[in-house]
Formats: sequence, structure tokens, C-alpha cells
Amino acid sequence: MEREEILLPPGVELTDIEVDVGSAPEEALPEPPSEAEPTKIECMQQASETRSEDPPPAPAGADARKKEFSEAELAKKKRELNRRRKERAKRAKKTKKLAQGPLPGTNAGPSTSGGLTVGVGRGRGLLSTWPRPPHPVECSSIGRGRGITPKMLEEALGESPRPLRAFDAHFHPDRIKIRKGKTELQGQPLHPVEVVGGVWNFCDPVRYSAPGFLDRVFDELPEGYAVAVGIHPKQAYGLKRYYLEALRSALADPRVRGLSELGLDWSTDDSEWGAQEQLFEQLLGLSTGRVLVLHLRGANGSRPGNEPIPRAVHKLARDAIRRRCPAAQRIHLHCFMGSPDIVDEWTSAFRYAYFGVTGSASYYNGANAKLKRLGIRSIPGNRLLIETDAPYLPVRPRHGWQTEAFIGDVGQVVASIRGVPLPEFLDQTTINARELYCLK
Ligand SMILES: [Zn+2]
Repeated sequence: MEREEILLPPGVELTDIEVDVGSAPEEALPEPPSEAEPTKIECMQQASETRSEDPPPAPAGADARKKEFSEAELAKKKRELNRRRKERAKRAKKTKKLAQGPLPGTNAGPSTSGGLTVGVGRGRGLLSTWPRPPHPVECSSIGRGRGITPKMLEEALGESPRPLRAFDAHFHPDRIKIRKGKTELQGQPLHPVEVVGGVWNFCDPVRYSAPGFLDRVFDELPEGYAVAVGIHPKQAYGLKRYYLEALRSALADPRVRGLSELGLDWSTDDSEWGAQEQLFEQLLGLSTGRVLVLHLRGANGSRPGNEPIPRAVHKLARDAIRRRCPAAQRIHLHCFMGSPDIVDEWTSAFRYAYFGVTGSASYYNGANAKLKRLGIRSIPGNRLLIETDAPYLPVRPRHGWQTEAFIGDVGQVVASIRGVPLPEFLDQTTINARELYCLK
């Protein structure tokens, strides 16, 4: 702008010249250097040369030549000014055309309603309306400039993008603590979120049977979180009676919202299955209306009669719950990896059957991988939960242990399998979890 002021010849008003308001595309355009307009570097060189030499004596008749030269120079400056004005008008026309057309590399066209208004080009009032961009906002280059940056969009919207919020419906704080004491946590979540709630699961009676354990847990429990207590089916075989009593007294505490984990795990030796079934029945008798957090697992293979084991496990569990619990029993199928058929069977048997999906969805493989993904897609939207099951099951390619802070990564995997945007997906799964555990 300073250069424009220096160039102003007599008789030309400042208002005749279009003022550059600093729009990105135009700033990037280099102005052609001319004799009348030395570049900044040249100016500095001239200044230093002048300083290093004595001023030359003025020759005779210099004033007359100076006048002649000034008039010629003035005419030249006027021509140059006109040329630039024309060039500027041409550029403005071109920029306007670009702004109205689709973004490079997208199919987005001009929006007719509900779009975002962003200034493009230079000068006054050159505005264009675009459709709201998909989340997350990415830089798009318009013309030769720097394009629309997330910051520009933020300013145009008048607000920062809302942070992602998620609810981790199943993890184990006591086991995370043990891992923390042994090894350092590696890496950061790829999809950082604000964890607005979760369910703390304690399924090792050896720990929660310690005097005052639950009181300490509830002292530390943040708002928006729930506690569930149980005995993992892998502990059924050879379980000491004392631990069953410890669970009974833990469940006497009305602050405990869930019975977790209980179930059947047939990835173990089949000699343990009988004890698991027996414990499962016993625990159902203690649930007293709490959420049942089911751990149902089966090795790949078949039972006599050729029924695939995972489906048989689900059927056995469902039949037992039907016998002992009301139809309105709230159920959380933890780390669910079943087919659409199994989803149907649970939802038709129990209207409050919810399905928790973990980071294991990032490494489904083998013959059943496709079926498991179809299973995730078939879960009703209002019955879906996401879980880290921390410290276990990190989303691949990450390895090691994790915390509930990684729930956004689980959300991303499951949302992409279902083909839905992550922010809405996280909101919905948060609502579902709060409903199931009766949290605000
Ligand atoms: Zn678990």
C-alpha cells in the first residue's frame, strides 16, 4: 500500500485506487518491478551507496532537464497505473469465478441455503456462499493464495469446533493401576476426546474384598461415572466361597449399578465350563435389578450337534437370564463380537439389551471377520455402546496397554464400520450408556 501512495501523481486521488485490504490470494501475487518503483532491497542498496559517496555537484541546466524528465516520468506513471488497474479488475473477475465454482478436488458446488459466508478475493464486498465443510475441516486452496484455513472458518462461524466427547462403557481402573506401576503408557490417542463418563468395573474379589475398598472407590469416582462389581467367569473354577460372600456384601451397597463381569468363557479348557455355568446361575440370583455386564466368549469350533460355540454360549446365557430375570432386565453385552442373528436374538428376548464394542473391531480377521462387522452394523443405534476395556484391547496398530483416554480411537473404528460421522456417533453412544446406567 505504501508503494501505491508513493506512486500517486498529482491530480490522482487516493479514492481512485482500489485499496488492497490484505486478502490472501492477492498478497501472494508479485508486482512486476519497474524503474519508477524500486524494490525494497534496491532502495536499501541505493541508500547505502549514497551514504558511502559524497554527493556529486549539480551540473548546469539540471533544473530544466529535471522538469522535462519529471513530465515524461509522470506520463509513464499514469500509463503504468492504468495498466495495473486493468490487471486488478481482471484478477478480481477471475477470483470471483473460482469462488463460485466447486472447491478444487471436491464435488461441492455453490450453496443456495444454510451455507457459510466467507470473504474471498480482495477489496470490498466480494463474498461467496459455500456449503458447510465436512468435519474435520481441512485447508482447501483457492486460486493461488493460501486458501481457507480452519482459523478463517472458525472466525466466520464465530465459534470454535466443539470438542469430541465420549463415554467409555467398560474399563478396569484397578487393573490399569497395576499396569501403570509396571510399564509406561506408550503413545497418544489418535482421536483425542473429553471422556465425560464411564463405567468402572471391578471383577477381582481379591481386591474389592479389602476393607473400605468400595468407600475409597466412591470417594474418587468422578461425576458421570458408574461402578459395577462381579466375578469374572475365568475365576469360576476353584473359586473360594469367601469371594462369593465378598461380592454379596459389595452388592449390598446401593451405589453399585452393575454386576460385572459375569458370563461364560469357553476359550478356556472345557473342564472349567461346568463351574462357569454354576457361578453364572448364582450371580444372576444376586443381580437384584442391576445391569448385567455379560462376558460371553467361545473358541472357534463346534459343539456336538454342530452348533457353532459362540452362538451356543449366547443361547445358554440368554436362557438362564430368561429363567431368573424379568423381560425388562437391563443387559450390557460386553465386548460384543456376534453376528446379526445373535443381535436379533438378544434384542427380541430383552428390550434393554445393549451391545458394547471394543477396539478388537480393529483387528477382526479370519472367516468370521465379515460377519462380525455385519453384526456391528446390525446393532440398533440406540443400543450401541463403546468400550476400551482398558487396560486391554488397544486399537491396532497400537500395542501395549491403554486407558479410557483412548475411547475416541475405539469410536472412530466402530463409527467407520457403521459409516457414520464420529461426533454424532460419540454423542449417541454417550446417551445410550447414560440411559442404561441411569446416569444424568
Ligand atoms: Zn472387561
